[in-house]
Amino acid sequence: MGVFQGFEHVVRENEPLAPFTWFRLGGAAEYFAEPTTVDELSRLVRRCDQEGIRIRLLGGGSNLLVRDAGVRGMVLHLAAAPFCEIKIDGLQARAGGGAKLAHLISRCAAAGLGGLESLAGIPGTVGGALHGNAGTQSGDIGQWTSSATVMTRSGETLTRERDDLRFAYRESSLDDLVIVDAIFTLERDDPEILTKRLQKNWIVTKAAHPTGALCAIPIFKDPEGASAASLIDKAGLRGARSGQAEVCRTNSNFIVVGNGATSQDVEQLIQVVRNKVAERTGVDLELQTEIW
Ligand SMILES: Cc1cc2nc3c(=O)[nH]c(=O)nc-3n(C[C@H](O)[C@H](O)[C@H](O)COP(=O)(O)OP(=O)(O)OC[C@H]3O[C@@H](n4cnc5c(N)ncnc54)[C@H](O)[C@@H]3O)c2cc1C
Repeated sequence: MGVFQGFEHVVRENEPLAPFTWFRLGGAAEYFAEPTTVDELSRLVRRCDQEGIRIRLLGGGSNLLVRDAGVRGMVLHLAAAPFCEIKIDGLQARAGGGAKLAHLISRCAAAGLGGLESLAGIPGTVGGALHGNAGTQSGDIGQWTSSATVMTRSGETLTRERDDLRFAYRESSLDDLVIVDAIFTLERDDPEILTKRLQKNWIVTKAAHPTGALCAIPIFKDPEGASAASLIDKAGLRGARSGQAEVCRTNSNFIVVGNGATSQDVEQLIQVVRNKVAERTGVDLELQTEIW
């Protein structure tokens, strides 16, 4: 591993990515690393920069489809403790980019800090949620974010303050290489009421997800004034299949994968859905899921 001399303890070669993704599909990463400190992350990023190695960030893998051929370059995973810390101080919560969003939400509710409970039921990490401004009908993560620490492609760490941040539907200006951590400014509320609200929101969000199917992901963004699911239904695609991938029968914006499915099955089905929806409704659906 010549290019990663000195990083042998954190860098692995040819690491299968399927176990890290919600779909449980896809090939391996040429290089994969779980750095243990911010400083080590920075040195690793600099080494990749010097060697011209492309870096991708993996969160909880709940918004990703990894192609069967896998990915060239480096995949970074912020699983080590310093990237998953959550600290509460007054009305503010600071969370690492690798922290589970669900942990942040429940810690805040228990501490009597309200706001983020509207996101209950969304899988993934804080970094992934900030990158795509994850949200539900009741709100999104961006509205509670006051600043974020990011790392650039040259390994430099910067703080992005609220005035510098833009959030829109499933989009944010936080497109730096790594979201290292973020601060959320929340509202004081009764922990018991917050916990009840959290549970209610969790039930409402989960009710919209396919039941019993672990390997299912919502694929498209809702276009303005419509839901992607209703357009897919209108195009007659509920239950449509490609190999072992199927348009979910209870929520058509999800693709469900069965035993023996490949990423190619999913990608082909996505293409069929896009083409048919455009043909039959005139709407060009935009992907929410990222394809690597
Ligand atoms: C069953 C199910 C239900 C869902 N429901 C919702 C919903 O209601 N609302 C909603 O908004 N989404 C929903 N999603 C989509 C998904 O959960 C969100 O997009 C989530 O925020 C993705 O987070 P993740 O950590 O899994 O990111 P990943 O899928 O791992 O990555 C997504 C993107 O974020 C980037 N990223 C991840 N971590 C970092 C980091 N630390 N720094 C920089 N970039 C990073 C990745 O590079 C990639 O570009 C759902 C998904 C599933 C499977």
